[in-house]
Amino acid sequence: MSITVVGSIAYDAVKTPFGERERMLGGAAVHFALAASFFEQVRVVGPVGDDFGEAELELLRGRGVDVSDIERIPGGETFFWRGEYGWDLNSRDTLDTQLGVFEGFAPKLSDSSRASDVLFLANIQPDLQREVRSQLPAARFVALDSMNLWIDIARDSLVEAIKSVDCVILNDAELRQLTGKPNLLSAAREVLSWTSSSTEAGGVGGVQIIVAKQGEYGAALITGESFFSLPAFPLESVVDPTGAGDTFAGGFVGYIAAHLRPGELSGEVSDELLRGAMAHGTALASFNVEEFGTERVVRLTDEEIAARVQELREITRFSGGE
Ligand code: AMP
Repeated sequence: MSITVVGSIAYDAVKTPFGERERMLGGAAVHFALAASFFEQVRVVGPVGDDFGEAELELLRGRGVDVSDIERIPGGETFFWRGEYGWDLNSRDTLDTQLGVFEGFAPKLSDSSRASDVLFLANIQPDLQREVRSQLPAARFVALDSMNLWIDIARDSLVEAIKSVDCVILNDAELRQLTGKPNLLSAAREVLSWTSSSTEAGGVGGVQIIVAKQGEYGAALITGESFFSLPAFPLESVVDPTGAGDTFAGGFVGYIAAHLRPGELSGEVSDELLRGAMAHGTALASFNVEEFGTERVVRLTDEEIAARVQELREITRFSGGE
């Protein structure tokens, strides 16, 4: 089932204790698309500037990603982000964010992008997320990611965007910040209780699935009925965590898109399927952090993903203790 994604398409400048890159391909939609491309056809929606290279588009096409809804804005500059990580990679400072062509961008989706059953609203201004959401009123599984910046400066719009989706994938600190609840479970329950009062597309049933990303500690899945948690895949060498969250989301949503049965709605997705999606998101994210930016994921194979999911199964197996 094809997936449409909107979100940042970027150049990133990143410094970690293990090296730096001055201008590498990044952006939430790019990391998501590369990861999800292992499961389904992905269509990326968003603007780039004149400065965006053909090589970067080719890299996406090389993974089968449909780039025909990536719009080149004449005279515009591609979204740019600069970040620097602390010594244990747990802290990150954003040093610069240049929205560039995203400022005032009005997305024009092709018929193919509008026909996708699965939609991912990757990190970008919530107004733009809502605009794209409204162009896919019939999508059956819609998930959203965001970040502290948008909670700080566009919370009301973000809350409306959240009310129009089935699944929210956020860092645990962002869930707390968004709801003002210091406890993760309470914060997740709060978001689950939001139902759409707006007339925007979707949002009929409200959010049913919350994924709380917890960095090197893994991710938790919270639905109305259940709780599930996986650790991050244990790695001795982590080089650059940039895009790990989006890569997780690509694995998670990609796996669901590949397994959603015809006519099945988000509320009918089984717990087993969601857990499998958590494992695939975790595996994909673990590859992403092994090298800078997209460098590792573009070389990844289906076999490597399957092997890591199997290792995760072993690591988390639990028996005895009754
Ligand atoms: P993550 O490490 O998963 O939080 O995502 C990092 C990616 O998000 C980078 O490739 C950035 O280009 C992108 N990014 C950083 N800040 C923003 C923002 N304010 N809006 C959208 N994307 C952003």
